[in-house]
Amino acid sequence: RFITFEGIDGAGKSSQIAATVALLRARGLVVEQTREPGGTALGERLRELLLHEAMHLETEAMLMFAARREHLAARIEPALAAGCWVVCDRFSDATFAYQVGGRGLARDKFEALEAWVHPGLQPDLTLVFDLAPEIAAARVASSGADPDRFEREQRDFFVRVREAYLERARLAPQRICVVDADRAPDAIRAEIERLLGERFFR
Ligand code: C5P
Repeated sequence: RFITFEGIDGAGKSSQIAATVALLRARGLVVEQTREPGGTALGERLRELLLHEAMHLETEAMLMFAARREHLAARIEPALAAGCWVVCDRFSDATFAYQVGGRGLARDKFEALEAWVHPGLQPDLTLVFDLAPEIAAARVASSGADPDRFEREQRDFFVRVREAYLERARLAPQRICVVDADRAPDAIRAEIERLLGERFFR
């Protein structure tokens, strides 16, 4: 099984990913936890470039998919083939949300890259953490970490990214669940546990 977590920066994915991985492992499942961009040595180098270098939008999109190609070949596909569960922080829905929705990459170019890099493969379940950009930005600011070039974007950018995630969820309602991320962590964790139970464990 392949599960991905999505949402704008500051939506609170990280702690819920850790909780979800722990929950699956407690069931005795073998779980591979990973992230994008990144997940492989080369992918992490591409991530550094993507987060800190200004570049043409299409270069950005192609590097995201280049990192993804590597990640699929080196980690995701072998893990799935071996019967492991893969929990990934971001996947192609993020490229749709950030590069298409946020920055205006042409949809047909996104679709061409997606069809090239992972034809026929989508996550079994995607959780989109949905939150007002103002609240998310306040969380990022209070985290104290140095913002990367995406996190330095303005509110309007995150409004578009959020909208693109919601649109993507409407296009694939059986795969993508929108989770209200403006709640206490325990409530969010309980909802994720319920969704996983309904989807995979009954
Ligand atoms: O989720 P994480 O913080 O690891 O993402 C790193 C950064 O890359 C974030 O600021 C995210 O917004 C950005 N990103 C992006 N396009 C993607 C994936 C991530 O702009 N396709």
